[in-house]
Amino acid sequence: MKNKLSVENLRINFGQKEVLKNINVSFVEHEITALIGPSGCGKSTLLRSLNRMHDLSPDAKISGRLLLDGTDIYAKEVQATKIRQRIGMVFQKANPFAKSIYENITYGLKINNLPHGKDVVEKALREAFLWEEVKNDLKMPATRLSGGQQQRLCIARAVALRPEVILMDEPCSALDPVSTLKIEELISDLKDRYTIVIVTHNMQQAQRIADKTIFMYLGEVKEEGPTQQIFQQPQHELTSNYINGQF
Ligand code: ADP
Ligand code: MG
Repeated sequence: MKNKLSVENLRINFGQKEVLKNINVSFVEHEITALIGPSGCGKSTLLRSLNRMHDLSPDAKISGRLLLDGTDIYAKEVQATKIRQRIGMVFQKANPFAKSIYENITYGLKINNLPHGKDVVEKALREAFLWEEVKNDLKMPATRLSGGQQQRLCIARAVALRPEVILMDEPCSALDPVSTLKIEELISDLKDRYTIVIVTHNMQQAQRIADKTIFMYLGEVKEEGPTQQIFQQPQHELTSNYINGQF
């Protein structure tokens, strides 16, 4: 069990507000880690910090280290675009480009100077359990797909770049239960090849797919451990209250 990604002494301020307070967590290679906790506790901020999305927010003040295979990727000389190729992101609301299904996959590949032939597109769509449904419609605008298909397309777009880590911010919260289960099956399948961090509000989802669960509260990690332990024997009253729906 190797730590793929480690966060050390991470603090993030937006103006006067300290949104993350000295976070120290690690994400193990080929595991799925769930980030849970009440709205506003900093889950998305932590997730976004893992691929330096805060470079895009001029008002964010960050300190700490983020080690990917032991190398600090917050270091100035490391290019953010390279990090975002190695650490992909899937958002809550599927956000395909207003282009064809095919171009949704090739766009990022071209930007990153990666091979972008038909074989690569097919492989990514297969990996995201979408190929059979779309193989005859590759020129169709991606926005015509169903919500669940759009989200699988966004996952295909992420895996096409051959990332090592995939971050997902509530990827199922806009989806119906059947599409949600399909995506869960897909995420579980991906973990053999990637390290996955998923923010979820769905406690059943965390229990179904996550190896490890991290409970956050007011910008801090309150408790973390194997998912079964967090849900069956939470050590902290706040964790217990949260997973039992008391806030
Ligand atoms: P969660 O995903 O757990 O709901 P967030 O990480 O989105 O929480 O937000 C944590 C806190 O940081 C919230 O209080 C939110 O208002 C604040 N916040 C997030 N992004 C920004 C920003 N760009 N500027 C100012 N405050 C922000
Ligand atoms: Mg959020």
